[in-house]
Amino acid sequence: MFNKKHTDVCVIGAGPVGLVAAHALADQNIEFAQFDSADGCHTHSYALALLPESMELLDRLGVAEQILERSMKVPKVAIYHANDRKAELDYAQLNSGFPHLTVIRQCELEKILLQTLRAKGHKPHWHHRVRYMTENDHHVMVEVDRTIQGMTGYAYAHIDTQIDKILQYRANYVIGADGHRSAARRVTNIDFNETGAAKTYAVFEFKVDAELPNEMRIIVDDQGSHIFWPMPDNYCRFSFEVDVEDAPIETIDKEHCLVYKGKSAYPLLDEAHLAGFVSQHAQWFNGTAEEIRWRTLVHFERRMAESFGRNRIWLAGDAAHLTAPGGMLSMNIGMHEAYDLVERLSLDSDELRQSALANYSSDRIDEWSGLLDLDGLLQRESADPWIVAHKDSLAANLPASGDTRHALLEQVHLDDAMTA
Ligand SMILES: Cc1cc2nc3c(=O)[nH]c(=O)nc-3n(C[C@H](O)[C@H](O)[C@H](O)COP(=O)(O)OP(=O)(O)OC[C@H]3O[C@@H](n4cnc5c(N)ncnc54)[C@H](O)[C@@H]3O)c2cc1C
Repeated sequence: MFNKKHTDVCVIGAGPVGLVAAHALADQNIEFAQFDSADGCHTHSYALALLPESMELLDRLGVAEQILERSMKVPKVAIYHANDRKAELDYAQLNSGFPHLTVIRQCELEKILLQTLRAKGHKPHWHHRVRYMTENDHHVMVEVDRTIQGMTGYAYAHIDTQIDKILQYRANYVIGADGHRSAARRVTNIDFNETGAAKTYAVFEFKVDAELPNEMRIIVDDQGSHIFWPMPDNYCRFSFEVDVEDAPIETIDKEHCLVYKGKSAYPLLDEAHLAGFVSQHAQWFNGTAEEIRWRTLVHFERRMAESFGRNRIWLAGDAAHLTAPGGMLSMNIGMHEAYDLVERLSLDSDELRQSALANYSSDRIDEWSGLLDLDGLLQRESADPWIVAHKDSLAANLPASGDTRHALLEQVHLDDAMTA
């Protein structure tokens, strides 16, 4: 029943972060095996924008051109207090090869990452669920269920997942890019601590009959923060923060099967509520929804792993952090984490590799403390007092990272942890 194999690195998860890890490993000629419990990547828009630094990274992996062909460039972020425009961030002023936000549905991005990975001679093992890992000083044993789906049921038929074979892989390292319920995090006993209260958003993606502003908007008011994104083909996404109790909320689980659960699944998601949310939080919006492509209630937890891995098992992406949705940070920063991990793994000498890996976790925690302003350093006397007073609503919702984030914060007279 057990089928034993050897490889250098096991990548768990073939979401955007795992796929970037696979690209980087392929480019470094490192032998790897990639597993995903799902049957392929066919999700929704989810994290729908790439930050300038992410496009630079994807360019290094040879993927930027295909992404630009299927995406839309958004050059500005505007910050609103109700209907009052408080500030704007102009990406066109950035010193970057990609001075804009690149709007592309996450499912499209994953498709491109997969196609280009195939061109490099690799593909994930779908239907392979990592069930357990054990490690010693020399290697990690990864136990994987190969699954099949079959129709079962006596009184009524339903689809059931069955184990077809159990495989064992012996690897030198594991990259856990296996999302928020990470098995890699679980087996290493790493706590996933809250960094803030969870928030629930009513998300609507729809086609509009009017011209859309070509900028992302963050709207802060008494009810919370609400996000607007223009999308290709005259679609847009609104995410309205809502206060709901006992609602049948979909948690942040990826829906791998594109079956829409019915528009009356929850009354907050009907057309009348959409119109109400728009008139309450976004009076500047002058379009009418022609066709709602996707609507859902999503519960965004805010958590960070107490460590980003240890010894031979390392974490990247949602496996290590969850945050507010506006800035698309978990996916974007996660892709950098995957790339960075592979760079550290590819160091030739054992000693250098071990010391680079030992610093990976503290480097990541420092980066996230800055991004989420966990130490409260995001301020400056010359900044607009309203911006400073609302920085907690803004920090994680700003779609920016690294040097471009410093430059954009400078536009609104703010220093962040890295420059303060
Ligand atoms: C409904 C919804 C709306 C969202 N909206 C936003 C948004 O507006 N803004 C935003 O920034 N983010 C949003 N997200 C989150 C965004 O999708 C994630 O940040 C992103 O997918 C993280 O990528 P990842 O590769 O780290 O993890 P994932 O994309 O979750 O990929 C992990 C992969 O690991 C696989 N896996 C898990 N366990 C195992 C196992 N034991 N063995 C093998 N494979 C395994 C899973 O099948 C999955 O394919 C949303 C997510 C959802 C579900």
